[in-house]
Amino acid sequence: MTIHIRMLTLGQIATNAYLIGDTETGDAVLIDPVDDAPLLYQAAADEGWTIRLILATHAHFDHVLASQPLKDLTGAPFAIHQLEESWLLTLPEQGMMFFGTHFPAAAKPDRLLMSEPETIEVGAIRLETLFTPGHAAGHISFYLPSERVVFSGDCLFAGSIGRTDLPGGDFNTLMSSIHDQLLPLGDDVSVMPGHGEPTTIGVERRSNPFLQL
Ligand SMILES: [Zn+2]
Ligand SMILES: [Zn+2]
Repeated sequence: MTIHIRMLTLGQIATNAYLIGDTETGDAVLIDPVDDAPLLYQAAADEGWTIRLILATHAHFDHVLASQPLKDLTGAPFAIHQLEESWLLTLPEQGMMFFGTHFPAAAKPDRLLMSEPETIEVGAIRLETLFTPGHAAGHISFYLPSERVVFSGDCLFAGSIGRTDLPGGDFNTLMSSIHDQLLPLGDDVSVMPGHGEPTTIGVERRSNPFLQL
């Protein structure tokens, strides 16, 4: 089994989407259908991969804008935490709030993730859910133990953390999520965030200004 990860940075505020592909079977998981469904679909096809599952870390527009068109293109089910479902329904209004334009409706989730840890398997790709609220009420990070990689969404960034001033945000909750869910994964674990460059748990534990308090 060989698993490859591709990062694609797309959309109006440069959000990272991640394709996780099993190079033997061609099965792939997409984390965060950020924008431009045809491009995401083609990026998978270029690798010889088929997107079997679409996951979202949370329902802010920049992470789910392509959820419906990508579901239409791939036929893959879409999963997100249950607490994000109501926010997901506000996608057209989020467009008005942030950009003064209506966004298209988001995909209806086919599977709702819970706060308790769950294992998500697509072929040989096995992801564990980590409930990491604080930036958004139902924010999930996805851990890929075989590669020692965590997809941290807008919870933890290289040198920063997610904003907590949007509805459902809470600073203390976010800090607890980072300390209780992400840091214990281990210093060698790579962090693939929703914005900016990849980092590691160790680098962030030692140098992220928000983790030195
Ligand atoms: Zn966000
Ligand atoms: Zn974001």
